Amino acid sequence: MIQVGVNGYGTIGKRVADAVAAQPDMEVVGVAKTSPNYEAETAVRRGYDLYAAIPERASAFADAGIDVAGELAELVEAADVVVDCTPSGIGAENRELYEAHDTPAVFQGGEDADVGVSFNARSNFEEVKDADYVRVVSCNTTGLSRIIAPLEEEYGVEKVRATLIRRGGDPGETNRGPINDVIPDPVEIPSHHGPDVTEIFPDVDIDTQALKAPTTLMHTHSLNVTLEAEPETETVRDLIAGQDRVFTIPETADIDGAGALKQYALDLGRSRGDLWENCVWAESISMEGADLYLFQNIHQESDVVPENVDAIRAILTDESAAESTAKTDEAMGVGLESLFADGGREQLTADD
Ligand code: NAD
Repeated sequence: MIQVGVNGYGTIGKRVADAVAAQPDMEVVGVAKTSPNYEAETAVRRGYDLYAAIPERASAFADAGIDVAGELAELVEAADVVVDCTPSGIGAENRELYEAHDTPAVFQGGEDADVGVSFNARSNFEEVKDADYVRVVSCNTTGLSRIIAPLEEEYGVEKVRATLIRRGGDPGETNRGPINDVIPDPVEIPSHHGPDVTEIFPDVDIDTQALKAPTTLMHTHSLNVTLEAEPETETVRDLIAGQDRVFTIPETADIDGAGALKQYALDLGRSRGDLWENCVWAESISMEGADLYLFQNIHQESDVVPENVDAIRAILTDESAAESTAKTDEAMGVGLESLFADGGREQLTADD
């Protein structure tokens, strides 16, 4: 069993811990937190050993009546790999500690690209095989990579133009906005997402624009990809629908936005209402000559979670991308295609 430590138990860290715990070949050796807040309390309830991320603050846990198993350095020493889910910039500061204990680490997309080799399971799993330090790219870059990879393989990509309407903040981030506005952010072109995609696809020509909107639910991408071929719309729809970790939303589902998507995930009983898949509206997938257009939604809190699990196997095992992603997805329950694929609404009502 691969012993995994999770440093930073917030939006991403708590999901990564649960995803790791669900794997047949991994165990959570412990999770590290800075303060004894409600997330620390739920970590203990879920049975994770809790470590104090900042030694000087360890007494705060005792004062709050929460037992800690030790300090971060002990967790790093006990782990075969650490998944660092601390806020942007802290991960890079932590790398020295991981190196001192000779413990490989997986970082998140908020870190600068030089913290480790950038990773997306669908796109460059094999490239991180010899790396000790890997960075799972951001939620938006993950969502773009999952679409670009099959298009690049099948047709070649001449140019990607993406407009990203990003959620203002996560549901718990009461300090973020906008409250009642839509803000070009950044107002200049490109946003950082385009250059980030080229960390995964160095040869892809991509321009990105980004905005922030007053929602906490999901990001929305408007995508235009100029291909090096002119396939039929139906052929491209089939290609995209056939991808793992992509949910092609059928017209019959009556899902018109992020609210319905999240409701669907909750109705399915998914933990935290998570949507690990890119959610692409089937009717939006359209070819105009060599130009592909589509809309997709990305659940910022969860799409990178299965990628973190695969990054662990890419670093520590000889498994292929296909073996690892299949194992991850089965253990987590990733994949929304099957029910709609044969019958859509008819099958849903027939089962009622
Ligand atoms: P978060 O603020 O929800 O969680 C971070 C956690 O780390 C908190 O529990 C915080 O208390 C803890 N922490 C703070 N300082 C720490 C320290 N020095 N040592 C250990 N723990 C510390 O943040 P998040 O949204 O989970 O983001 C984590 C990383 O994931 C960032 O790089 C971010 O860019 C990336 N990411 C976030 C999202 C998202 O939408 N939330 C999506 C993809 C990637």
